[in-house]
This record gives sequence, structure tokens and C-alpha cells, in this order.
Amino acid sequence: MAVHTVVLIPGDGIGPEITDAVLAVLEAAGAQIEWVRHQAGITALETSGEVLPADTLEAIEHHGVALKGPCTTPVGEGFSSVNVQLRKTFDLYAAVRPVRSLPGVKTRYEDVDLIIIRENTEGLYSGVENEVTPGVVMSMKVATENGCERIAKWAFRFATQRQREKITVFHKANIMKMTDGLFLRSAEYTHRHDYPNIEYTSAIIDAGCMRLVQDPSQFDVLLLENLYGDVISDLCAGLVGGLGVVPGANYGEKEAIFEAVHGSAPDIAGKNIANPLALLMSAVMMLNYLAETTEDNSLLDVAARIREAYDEALQAGEKTRDLGGNLGTAEFAQAVIKRIKHN
Ligand code: ATP
Ligand code: MG
Repeated sequence: MAVHTVVLIPGDGIGPEITDAVLAVLEAAGAQIEWVRHQAGITALETSGEVLPADTLEAIEHHGVALKGPCTTPVGEGFSSVNVQLRKTFDLYAAVRPVRSLPGVKTRYEDVDLIIIRENTEGLYSGVENEVTPGVVMSMKVATENGCERIAKWAFRFATQRQREKITVFHKANIMKMTDGLFLRSAEYTHRHDYPNIEYTSAIIDAGCMRLVQDPSQFDVLLLENLYGDVISDLCAGLVGGLGVVPGANYGEKEAIFEAVHGSAPDIAGKNIANPLALLMSAVMMLNYLAETTEDNSLLDVAARIREAYDEALQAGEKTRDLGGNLGTAEFAQAVIKRIKHN
């Protein structure tokens, strides 16, 4: 079995403890991965004076794949989001967040199976804000033809590869005729021109939100611009048990960074109560990605065994507190490890 090298950024807040839990599970499952540890965010600021040190960026560029814990973004002035900076630096324009019902995790819905595709580099995350005149501030929403087209193509290609049936765009093109209009038209065009076999629909985002909480099964793949993707990701997390169970991947042309949808959750950091599952699921996505890109099929098997093990643990009621259980972060990892089948 080949050894794969992956950059590991533990992050801050609950980052280090959920990272430890995930590493333990991956090791127990026999994933042949050599981790190259680097820092980002507050931990990096403390040791190197920079939130994104050059050696971290170089390592990601060199190895192409990273598993990343959450990095705190302070609200307000003087500190721009590390997550956003990373996505921009490597032009990781496609964020993918699968949202699925889990065995043993009871929620309002039983068979949620959605994939959120979020455009990761444009929209209101352009970070262009200014004071027009005292008392009047402005934030710029950016959409480019290139940005809208490439995410539309990415989404339809992804849906085709994964044998999904339908893509729905949430938008507010009735108000933001130019920006959301461009996003919407690009998706429509890509569907008509290149992917007529994938069904395409759109919904105004407010009505879409209502329909999502009434009956999520009417949607399949959701394609969203940056800010809508951020908000809808958390909403959809709520459909399946919360932020502790939604993983994510950020893809560019060359690099890929895998991270949970949730943030650093400072309120529960250092208490061994955070759910490591979202990061573990992100690691499983990473194993599948590595298998695909390196043609090392043994990783598919490792990924499947981890998935089976956490499904079984959840089914048996072995859960962290956010899911109504009573296990700590490390104890949940052990419950998963106990269930990993060895060939
Ligand atoms: P960000 O700005 O980085 O997105 P946020 O303010 O949205 O951060 P999160 O850290 O994502 O906040 O989480 C919101 C709350 O959800 C946390 O305060 C915590 O109580 C809960 N939470 C998030 N992740 C987890 C987890 N892995 N396990 C348990 N609870 C979690
Ligand atoms: Mg958040």
C-alpha cells in the first residue's frame, strides 16, 4: 500500500481535540498517511506572527491535499478570515458539503440526502467594503462570468459523476438582477448546453428555505453562491443533527482542503465534548479523493470501513452530547475504533 502525504492543520478552539480523535480513527483503520503538520490562524499568529505562514502555504501547494481543523475568525476589524484567505490563495472555488441522515440520529426527517455545492470565492466574500461617507458603509457583491461558469460546470460534472439527478439553484435574481442573474443564467446555460440529462430547477432563496424545512426530499444537489451557501449549509446541518455531522471539501484546479462545516466552537473547546464526526467524515471524503487522484483503491476500502464503523456506533447509541448521547470526543473515537473491521 502506498503512503500518501497530507498536510494537517489542527486549527484552534475544538480543532486540536477533534483532530486527535480523527487521527486515532484513521490510524486504527490502517490509512497509510504521513501527516505533515502546519499551523494556521490564531495558533500560527502566536508562534510566527502571521495567520497564514509561508511554510503552511508552501506545504499545501507542494502536497496538494490538506485536512484542516477549524480556525477562529474574530468578528470585527483587523483580522480577515483564515478560511477565506486559504480558499482564495488556492482558488478553491468549489465547496462540497454532503448532508445525510444518519442511523441512530433521530431528527424531524428520515431520509435526507442532499449535496450542497457552494461557490467559494466570489459574492459578498469579495471583502470589498468601504465607507462611502460618514455613517454610510458599503459591501460589494461580486460575480464574474468566469466564476459563475466554472462553478456551474463543476456542479453539473460532479452531479453526473455521482449519478445525482437534479441541481437546484437558490438565488435572489429578482432583486440582484445582475449578480444573482449572472449566476442563475450560467447554471441554466450549462444545463441546456452541456448537461441536459441532469434536471435543473431554481428557486428564490426565501421560498427555497421554506420548502427545504418543509420537505428536504424535493431537493437533490443545491448550487449556491458564496453567502447563500454558507447560510444554507448550517440550515441543512440542522435537518440531520447539527453541525457535528456535516463534512466538507474545498476543491480548486490543483489543491483540495477538507474541513468540517462548523467553526472552532470556542464555547465547548478543551472540554472533550465536541463531536469529531464532521471532521472524521471530511477525512473520509479526503480518502476517497486520494483514491480517485492516485488510483490507490485500497483507500476506498479504508474509507468504507470507517463509515461502517461510525454508522454502527451511532446505531448503538454511542454518541456525543450534541446528538443526545453522553460520550466525550475521545470516547466516541474509541467507540468507532472498536467497531472497525479488519480484513
Ligand atoms: P464560524 O464563524 O467559524 O463559522 P460559528 O460562529 O458559526 O463559527 P461554530 O463554531 O461553527 O460557530 O459553531 C456554532 C455552535 O455549534 C458552537 O458554538 C457549538 O456549540 C456548536 N458546535 C459546532 N461544532 C460542533 C461540534 N463539532 N460538536 C459539538 N457542537 C458543535
Ligand atoms: Mg458558521
